[in-house]
Amino acid sequence: MKRLVLAALLLTSCGKTPAPQESPLATITEKATALQPELISIRRDLHRHPELSGTERRTAGVVAERLTALGLEVRTGIGGHGVVGILRGGRPGPVVAYRADMDAVVGQEPPGREYGSTVPGVQHVCGHDLHTAIGIGVASILSSLREQMPGTAVFLFQPAEENIQGAQAMIRDGALVDPRPDVIYALHSFPFRVGTVAQGAVFAGLDQFTLELTGEHATSAVAQRLQARLSEFGTVAPLKQAEQVAPYLADIQKPGGPYSTAIYMNVKISPSDVPTRFLVRGTVKASSDSMYPQLRQSVKEAVERELGATGYQLSFRDAPFPSMSSDPQVTAGAAPTLAEAVGEGNVLTLHATHIYSGEDFALFLQQLPGTMFLLGVANPARGILGAPHFPDFDADEESILIGTKAMSSVLWQRLSQS
Ligand SMILES: [Zn+2]
Repeated sequence: MKRLVLAALLLTSCGKTPAPQESPLATITEKATALQPELISIRRDLHRHPELSGTERRTAGVVAERLTALGLEVRTGIGGHGVVGILRGGRPGPVVAYRADMDAVVGQEPPGREYGSTVPGVQHVCGHDLHTAIGIGVASILSSLREQMPGTAVFLFQPAEENIQGAQAMIRDGALVDPRPDVIYALHSFPFRVGTVAQGAVFAGLDQFTLELTGEHATSAVAQRLQARLSEFGTVAPLKQAEQVAPYLADIQKPGGPYSTAIYMNVKISPSDVPTRFLVRGTVKASSDSMYPQLRQSVKEAVERELGATGYQLSFRDAPFPSMSSDPQVTAGAAPTLAEAVGEGNVLTLHATHIYSGEDFALFLQQLPGTMFLLGVANPARGILGAPHFPDFDADEESILIGTKAMSSVLWQRLSQS
């Protein structure tokens, strides 16, 4: 059945009986395999030259050069260093967008890596170097099939994901205009076993508060007491040890598991530039955005209970940052193709919000239906945990082939629908 669906994708629309053709998935797999060494070398080059949010000049240059060489219409400087590549197929069809993020994070990479960071204090520990390489891979494959490709593919290479600024900036600069995509897809590295891809990702949003203690409350003892009280709202602790990762991955695949309704609280005492004040700052993440109003109320009441009505100021960010919630219908629409691309047994399904990270792909999903897949990059036998933001993060580069063929197949399948 799945094969029949894919075989139908290459049928011509002119009503003639089409000549038998190779399954597009076979073609895509062949092309992705041939591209793999080049994509690995792109990934390693980006890994050696990581750039922090908002400074992705070199990375954007690499992307723009590649997309231009592939014959895409390329727009640069979109939302900072964002790059938009537009690939118009030879046949009519929908507009399908694909987003890859490009930025790196602060941190010192463990020494001795063959393709280690050459920039002190900056490293790719969130896999955005892989995402960029895979985005270039998908653009390469679809551009090589351009004549028979229906519709238009729009590639969004996004800067500044880590500080959740880039998606909004790209949208503001018209990344989703002319052409306006009908749907959007993305992928993120995750510590699942290499070879697997998880569908249905939801990443938690966040809320933030600042409690400014003044007058008699401006003491370190009061700040510590409030820190302890407010931390009690958290129901889950952050993952700090490698051994915590596998049980967590199992939990988020369980329907009704411990992460179906969870709250993560990170409360810190911050230095104040005014010696007579103490600042207690909190980041709140919840498994559902609907929990934030009640959480704000609970924080206010707890502060009032501890401190009374005066001697402090409690403020929240304007509005909680939204969760990144994959659209179930878009996810389901891609499922048969994903299963065929990576093998049915290699598709994982998520049943809980990933609470420890956010994703500003959320803002694209406020504009368009779409979904994010999680790409397994772990290889325990090679000592690769694959957990983003762990300081020793690395990825099995076989995942570049998996991601490229899976995303090319999913995009092709969606482009082939009206
Ligand atoms: Zn990331």
